[in-house]
Amino acid sequence: MNKKHTKLLAFDKNHVWHPYTSMSSPLPSYLVASAEGVHINLASGESLIDGMSSWWSVLHGYNHPKLNSALIEQSTKMSHVMFGGLTHQSAIDLCEKLIRLTPHGLDKVFLSDSGSVSVEVAMKMALQYWHSKQSENIAYKSKTKLLTVRNGYHGDTFAAMSVCDPVTGMHQIFEQVLMQSYFAPAPSIAFGQLWQAEETKALRQLFEQHHDELAAFIIEPIVQGTGGMRFYHPQYLKECRKLCDQYDVLLIVDEIATGFGRTGKLFACEWAEISPDIMCLGKTLTGGYITLAATLCTDDIANTISEGEAGCFMHGPTFMGNALACAVANASIDLLFENDWQQQVNTIEHQLTSLLMPLATHTRVKDTRVLGTIGAVECLQRVNVAHIQKRFVELGVWIRPFGKLIYIIPPLIINNEQLTTLVNAIATVLDEDDCFISNE
Ligand SMILES: *Cc1c(COP(=O)(O)O)cnc(C)c1O
Repeated sequence: MNKKHTKLLAFDKNHVWHPYTSMSSPLPSYLVASAEGVHINLASGESLIDGMSSWWSVLHGYNHPKLNSALIEQSTKMSHVMFGGLTHQSAIDLCEKLIRLTPHGLDKVFLSDSGSVSVEVAMKMALQYWHSKQSENIAYKSKTKLLTVRNGYHGDTFAAMSVCDPVTGMHQIFEQVLMQSYFAPAPSIAFGQLWQAEETKALRQLFEQHHDELAAFIIEPIVQGTGGMRFYHPQYLKECRKLCDQYDVLLIVDEIATGFGRTGKLFACEWAEISPDIMCLGKTLTGGYITLAATLCTDDIANTISEGEAGCFMHGPTFMGNALACAVANASIDLLFENDWQQQVNTIEHQLTSLLMPLATHTRVKDTRVLGTIGAVECLQRVNVAHIQKRFVELGVWIRPFGKLIYIIPPLIINNEQLTTLVNAIATVLDEDDCFISNE
């Protein structure tokens, strides 16, 4: 590490917030010089195989020539223009693609800046929908609450936080200001296990009791990501659709982590063959290049809101429809199909399954599971993040575990040899006591 790097890191440590770590005694940060393909290159010289896709967002690898040129080409026309009163081809092309690719019925697109904001938009749409609904049925106006399941994660802004798991989402800190939502137990039957009808009993009761107050039900489809990489039975999502229809509640599906092939389907909703009323997309939308999110909804929702009291939907971010972001999103979606994403995902799933399976019998391991490009090793003990991270870097990989979970979600372009290096690194740290915090 040279002097310049030491100085940069010292400033970073003293002044720059990083996610979910203390500012007074932060977890260490590693200085990155560049990234290319599946490699993250540290300023100190190590080249790490990326197992995280920069929090699920990278699909085709870093520094991709086609994505780079989409950005450059767009920037020579314009990087951004306001979306109020103006529009442009990159945004129009992207919305056309999203409507065509997502499940049937999602025909209106609202572009925004980040996943959390797209969830805010989805929730606001649901609330404004019921508020706008023309009817003698005055009860519609009281449909102002959200129902969700435990273990969920939907973002860090206030409305999104109100539907995150109350425990891991730390609701007690913000209790006084958070919207109060209803929580059903988390889905418990895993993907691939035998379905049992009792699974949705508690959920049904909540619909029965509270449907008069419920604007929407929100859920991550098939994979509860941040809540522990839990893969649940598609029938659960099917039942959610049925309950929403039966009780006149909108279904919001948060595909921010699962969208664009990650679970083996282009969208995880397809596992249950359902269409939601509102869908949120983010993370992989630009192939990991720039922040961009989208909230899609049905014609009915858009029309009802537009014909309601306000006459329009009350939201409009400054950087809505950012041209650079839309251009790179278009290029990333084109690449998915050029590269045959289904084949890429199936290959990774197959390789990950055979690589991770042997770890299932390790004394430190509670469960290993794979779905699409997501591989998870659930341990019996919590990891020591600072130490395990250091060990992973020494082993030439970038994997960032949380809680008891060591997981990988690599870019689609990863090959078998690189995947093997990732899994071997996990196998190595499982044997090291200092990588874990003892349970007492
Ligand atoms: C990451 C994530 C979000 C939040 O997206 P940001 O871009 O971080 O605001 C919301 N929902 C799910 C399911 C996510 O994985």
